Order: sequence, then C-alpha cells, then structure tokens
Amino acid sequence: MPNYPDVMDKLVSLCKRRGFVFQSSEIYGGTGSVWDYGPLGVELKRNLQDRWWNAMVRQRDDIEGLDSAILMHPRVWEASGHVGGFVDPLVDCSNCKKRFRADDPKIKGTPGTPDAQCPACGMKGTLSAPRLFNLMFKTFMGPVEDTAAIIYLRPETAQGTYVNFLNVQQSTRQKIPFGIAQIGKAFRNEITPGNFIFRTREFEQMEMQFFVEPGTDMEWFEYWKAERMKWHQGLGLAHERLQYHQHTNEELAHYARAAFDVQFDFGGTLGFQEIEGIHNRGDFDLGQHQKFSGKKLEYFDHASNKRYTPFVVESAVGPNRTLLALLVNGYREEAVEGESEGRTVLGLKAALAPIKAGVFPLVKKDGMPEMAHRIANDLRNAFPVFYDDSGAIGRRYRRQDEIGTPFCITVDGESAGANTVTVRDRDTLAQERIAVDRLREYIGTRIAE
Ligand code: ATP
Repeated sequence: MPNYPDVMDKLVSLCKRRGFVFQSSEIYGGTGSVWDYGPLGVELKRNLQDRWWNAMVRQRDDIEGLDSAILMHPRVWEASGHVGGFVDPLVDCSNCKKRFRADDPKIKGTPGTPDAQCPACGMKGTLSAPRLFNLMFKTFMGPVEDTAAIIYLRPETAQGTYVNFLNVQQSTRQKIPFGIAQIGKAFRNEITPGNFIFRTREFEQMEMQFFVEPGTDMEWFEYWKAERMKWHQGLGLAHERLQYHQHTNEELAHYARAAFDVQFDFGGTLGFQEIEGIHNRGDFDLGQHQKFSGKKLEYFDHASNKRYTPFVVESAVGPNRTLLALLVNGYREEAVEGESEGRTVLGLKAALAPIKAGVFPLVKKDGMPEMAHRIANDLRNAFPVFYDDSGAIGRRYRRQDEIGTPFCITVDGESAGANTVTVRDRDTLAQERIAVDRLREYIGTRIAE
C-alpha cells in the first residue's frame, strides 16, 4: 500500500494564503478548532454540497429534501440517547492541563494510577481517572437562565429528519421505501479536535435517512453502501485511497444492525479515516420518538394492509471532512520542463473547482485587456471566472494551478484578427486554439466530464 505524504501543513498555509480557509476570530488569537471558509473555500464547499444535493434529492424521485432547525425541543436529545449516551470518557493532565480521550493510544499506563504517563508533557502520575464528558453544547432559550430553559445545539441533523418523518411523508405522499435528505450545521464539543478541518467543534453534515419496510433493510443497506462509494469515487478521489471499514461488535452502537464507514487515506500519520458513515439503524430512532413524544410515527401500507414502524438506513457524510479529502487528494508539487521554478497544483475535478477559468491578456496593450474583459464578462454569466493581467503570464498560470482552476484562457497577438484564444489545460499543460464564440460550449462540456 502506498504511503502518501503528509501535506496538511502545506494545505493549511495554501488555504490561508489563497482564501480557502481561515482560522475563526484569528485577530483575537483564534477560537479552538473552528474555521471560516474564504472566497474560494465557500465556492468549493458549495459545489460539493450541490453535487450531493443533486445526486440525493434532485435526480431521484424517492428522496425529499428538508431543512430543519438547529434548535430543537430538549426531549429530542433524551429520546435520541444523546443526553445520556453522547459522552466520551476523557482524562486531564494536572501538570500541563491538556485533555485526552481515555482511549488515546499515546497514553502509556492506566490513567488515574501513578504509572500513567502524559503523552504531551511526559509527566508520570498526573493523568486523572477517566471522566464522562457530554459532547453536546448547551445553551438557554428565553430570558431566564434556569434549568427549564436549557436547550442544545444539535450534534447531528438526523433527529430533525426523524421528528419530521410523518410531515414529509404525508405532505409529499411518498410511499416506503423513500428517503429524507438535509444539509446543515452540527456542533460537538469534541475533546480532541484537530487536523485542520478534519475534526472541528462546528461543522456541517449531509445526511440522508432512507425509510424502509422491516426485513428489506439489509438489502437497502447494501444498495446505499455501494451507491455512496461510487459517489465518493465520482468526486475524483483516487480509488486506492478509498476503502470501507466495517464496524466491529465493539464499535457498533447497541441499536445498530450494521455499520460501514467510507474511509479516505489522508496520508502521513493520519492515514485512513472516516469521511462517511452508512448505518442500518433499525427502528431505534422512530421507536424512541414514539415513546418519548407519545405520538405514533408509523406507516400504513395500503397495498399489503400492514401498519409498521419503518427501519432506517442512513448515510451521514461531512462536507468539511470531504473537502479536506479533496484538497489532500488533489495537492501536488511538480517540476515544470524548461523552468527553474516548479508548480503547485490542486488537481480538483473541474466540476468542483471554485473557479473554472482564468482569463488573461498576454500583454496590457493592443486591445488585449479589452478583449479579455469582454470574454470574462460573457463567461461569468455561465460560470465563475477570474480576470488577471498582473505579472508574467507564467506566474498567472501558476496562481490558477495552485487553486485548482482547470482552464486558462489567453488573449494574444492573433486573437483580435482571428477571434480565437488559447485554452491551457491545468493537468496536461496542452494549449488549444479555440474560437471565442465556442468558448462557453467548450468549457461547459469539459466541466461536465
Ligand atoms: P468520528 O468517529 O470521526 O468522530 P462519527 O462516527 O462520530 O465521526 P458521524 O456521527 O457518523 O461521525 O457523522 C457523520 C460524518 O460527519 C462523519 O463521517 C464526518 O465526515 C462528519 N463529522 C463528524 N464529526 C465531525 C467533526 N467533529 N468535524 C468535522 N466533521 C465531522
């Protein structure tokens, strides 16, 4: 198996320099493990989310979209098990004040005993015994900060889907099997956040819950397992960097009937890590909400005259983590023939790239800037483009390579007379001469590839 290099530090710096991702509240010294998406990052994230939304909702007639609120009735989180069970045991070091998950493999010895050694400061006997720590953020609703007003920031979008199961089913008249999909923020007070945007305390989820007749659940589980892997491959992630990880009995939640993660190889010491979870949750969630709310969440199947609580097969993927996978997968540094300076390339699939084309006049005279502006303004109606006339042309190409722009269009000495431009391909470096009238179609077709 190839050992992919660790490119994380290089990506953090590229992301800041070029406006993909900034540290939150940077001028105040930053907020712990929260990140902001800059002009290029927000485009890339939107492209990724739109691609998911199109594949899951718009291109299917058996999945409906939903956008439920972040703040929900506090009983939801009792029913879901998050109040009682969404806890990680953690240990504190009394010397360096760092916190670790109790199962951190870097801890030597048993925490709480004199032989345990802190993985950060190296002191022995300073680690506390494990204590349970709830990962949900608490806040207050209304003007009084008393216990009656405690609510939580949702740690997943799924519960908004479960509690709306009947609303969606009845308003759309969907028949089982069908799914509900949503994209939205989730918050977890993670104990060990880190690795840039891999594990943060505020993040997004793209989740789809598929409601099926009990007994057909394993068939649908296999279907979604295969479907979701194809989707990740379609993003341009290298096939050999993707794998399934089957949850062992210890990893499996008590109610889960089966669970697989889709993992991506982030390289370096991080290696293969989860980017998506596919779970067969049985009737646990709807069952719990029926119990706690006292409201029936059943489905009546007219054809078979049967009433039942559907089983759920879910797909839960993080756009932030997948975006990091795209950056890691696409990042490369290479030598350029005949040039002393190499180039950095973000090999993003054209459909996902934040900017589709750079438009340049070769020089700032002879009407070239005017023609390049006209072309850029026309193309801008169809896709995001970037006009650039500063610096040597090679520099301008390299600036676009580094942010993953798949095409660079140059207006040169021949352009005005022949009404043509050159189009340079980011990956092959090949330059083709294309008629200006054909540019939109040419780039549109290439982006769809
Ligand atoms: P992990 O084991 O890595 O904490 P999880 O199994 O708790 O993840 P799920 O609850 O299944 O994750 O959430 C689905 C997806 O949401 C994950 O595959 C991941 O892409 C994303 N995700 C979960 N937690 C975070 C986080 N703290 N920061 C960024 N993305 C996250």
